[in-house]
Amino acid sequence: MDLYEYQGKQLFRQFGIPVSDGRLATTPQEARRAAEEIGGQVVVKAQVLTGGRGKAGGVKLADDPADAEHKAREIIGLDIRGHVVEKVWIERASEIAKELYLSVTFDRGAKRPLFMFTTQGGVEIEEVAANNPDALVRLHIDPLEGFQPWVARRLVYGAGVEDPGEQKQIASIVEQLYRCFVASDAMLCEINPLIVTPEGEIKALDSKFTVDDSALFRHPDIAELRDTSAADPLEALARDKGVTYVKLDGTVGILGNGAGLSMSTVDVVVTAGGRPANFCDLGGGGDAEGVVDALEVITRDPQVKSIFFNIFGGITRGDEVARGILEALDRIEIAVPIVVRLDGTNAEEGLKILADAAPPNLHVSPTMLDAARTAVELAA
Ligand code: GDP
Ligand code: MN
Repeated sequence: MDLYEYQGKQLFRQFGIPVSDGRLATTPQEARRAAEEIGGQVVVKAQVLTGGRGKAGGVKLADDPADAEHKAREIIGLDIRGHVVEKVWIERASEIAKELYLSVTFDRGAKRPLFMFTTQGGVEIEEVAANNPDALVRLHIDPLEGFQPWVARRLVYGAGVEDPGEQKQIASIVEQLYRCFVASDAMLCEINPLIVTPEGEIKALDSKFTVDDSALFRHPDIAELRDTSAADPLEALARDKGVTYVKLDGTVGILGNGAGLSMSTVDVVVTAGGRPANFCDLGGGGDAEGVVDALEVITRDPQVKSIFFNIFGGITRGDEVARGILEALDRIEIAVPIVVRLDGTNAEEGLKILADAAPPNLHVSPTMLDAARTAVELAA
């Protein structure tokens, strides 16, 4: 899960990393009020989940509240690489003497967190790595040892920071950033630029923050930061119900148990000449409640003209899935035909349950290819 700049900065602040005072605004009028409250010169910053906002015209200085309103009007609605700006962050403007770069990320190859630090901040880090690799200090952290003071010293001296005041502040930010990274189960915490003001004060002017989705259950406060308005309503419903769902652009709704089988189901529908409307994975359990939830999500998509329900019973039991299908047909109105292929554990019991109930809109096929052909035909 990627956080917006202002959300990342909230977390930075909680961990003692210096950031500027700011307010969120969704309209030019709100931007004006925010600038009035902050006072003096402010910077108006597009809040979108993509970088390079400055170059795209999404970061602008404003001299007074009227100017902030004007700049916000320019930025709200701007399309930055496919992301339309809906919110701006109004922040007290900083004077910049130097721009540094500091990040900690999870290096999967090394199986360790990796710090990167350079005094060549403010530009894309890939640029520094390509053109001036010696200026970029890289340092892995042993997760069992955790942060040690020498880590910060190695980064600071390695990058050639000479001012003792700067060294001390950067060392402290390195330590806080590592604590923030570990405590939030982050995959990336990046500060670009980390600035030095003319007074010698160091602070985070930007934030890029990615949290491990699989760890969000441990961080309800962070999970809550997810912007559901920006998400597809069907995908939001799926996430609410704990269903793995990806919207595609065809007409055959796909439901399988397990990611591998669901992917194969997508393939076999294409082989049969159809186009999948989605990818939906019931997971390993496949109890009745899960089936109802998944069918509810799929049938909300008006593009779905038929549903191919592909089950191979391993842990999942065929009779349980069959009961789930009947329960779903009972509880929600499903206008489109459902084609079921059921094999594996308790398949016979499951098929018998379906045959006995014989709901009108349900077709049972013995093989995967056969079921796919039927579903494609019914969708046409
Ligand atoms: P990004 O382009 O998406 O990475 O957005 P940043 O937050 O990094 O801002 C881009 C650039 O705008 C920074 O590198 C700064 O040069 C400039 N900038 C941002 N905030 C301020 C500020 O408070 N004062 C000044 N003078 N420049 C700023
Ligand atoms: Mn930046």
